[in-house]
Amino acid sequence: MTAANSLNKIIYADNAATTPIDEDALNLMIELQRKFFANPSSAYKLSRPLKKVLLESREKIAACINAEPNEIIFTSGGTESNNWAIKSSVLEILSERPNIITSAIEHKAILNSCAAMKNLGCTVTKLSVDKIGAVNPDDLRKKILTKTKIISVMLANNEVGTIQPIKSLAEISHAAGKIFHTDAVQAVGHIPIDVKFFGVDMLSASAHKFNGPKGIGFLYIRDGLKILPYLDGGGQEFNLRAGTENIPAIAAMALALEKNCRDMQKTAEKLSACTKNLIDSLRQNKINFIINGGEDRLPGHLSLSFKDCVGETLMHRLDLKNICVATGSACDAGQTKISHVLKAMKIPEDYVRGTIRITFGKGNSEDDAKIIGNNLSKILQKK
Ligand code: PLP
Repeated sequence: MTAANSLNKIIYADNAATTPIDEDALNLMIELQRKFFANPSSAYKLSRPLKKVLLESREKIAACINAEPNEIIFTSGGTESNNWAIKSSVLEILSERPNIITSAIEHKAILNSCAAMKNLGCTVTKLSVDKIGAVNPDDLRKKILTKTKIISVMLANNEVGTIQPIKSLAEISHAAGKIFHTDAVQAVGHIPIDVKFFGVDMLSASAHKFNGPKGIGFLYIRDGLKILPYLDGGGQEFNLRAGTENIPAIAAMALALEKNCRDMQKTAEKLSACTKNLIDSLRQNKINFIINGGEDRLPGHLSLSFKDCVGETLMHRLDLKNICVATGSACDAGQTKISHVLKAMKIPEDYVRGTIRITFGKGNSEDDAKIIGNNLSKILQKK
């Protein structure tokens, strides 16, 4: 996004941390917040439009990922969906010391949920990744134990954008009779998602990553999968996640997702032009860098490592030029330690500290990419 004001122009290129809210989604949210304040569970006619909005939003979201409406359960976002998927799968059988399999490069919402369950007696197996950050399906096959209850591998990584072979991983998990969950927070609204084709049992999503509002998301739960409720209370969300529904945010999320899915191909083309421009500019300026992650990455996602540099310094220098990028994942910002993702990928020693993440979104232009490329090159040439 390029936001101009009278004093300066900010180029926002940290869309993996969060995205600016879509104007139509924002307007819808404000309108609903203002006009329809009633509780959607109430029986009078003031509540009826809200019930309809809830129903339609569920249908719209389901259609975007080829799910059924009753398989979409609204949550407060990716962290909650991930906690729910991991914890509820093992809580009922804790005394059997079940095993959880995940990957070494998951978001903290998965890794720390697994750690919490480990403290309660579970065992946790972390699959390693190759140098592009991909899990090997054969490795999963070998690591599944009789005691394994759930396997959770992210669809796309938040630091390097690598897309995992989810269909194969789900097939292997099911062949062994295990539940398969994927954290698709970075992928939903950016690449085509078909839960039936992937064959996943659960999938986490978060609206603020696809131009929706913050504090709202969903967990896809395959029809027929038995899962413990996350919040007990008044029976909302099919008795699985109680609490008065945030209808304005839910409706805005549905609209944002619908729009992103409708424009996906066009946006992806624009984003790949942005990343190409940036890379070309660095190459023309003879900058020494490597691109992390393989070819099969999220559109607009660039994790770059510069030789003998400090990523944090680069991030701050760009910030002085009103350019927003990240060093690792946003949750790790401010920490100078090498992220668990880059460590697991074994990025070469002389490059790894000089890593920044530039993630373009639908509001960016090719000009933004050129400006970032030129500024970054100047900073690196002066170093
Ligand atoms: N999972 C991934 C892969 C993420 O990138 C994030 C956010 O950074 C989350 C989960 C957490 O999502 P939320 O911010 O909605 O809690």
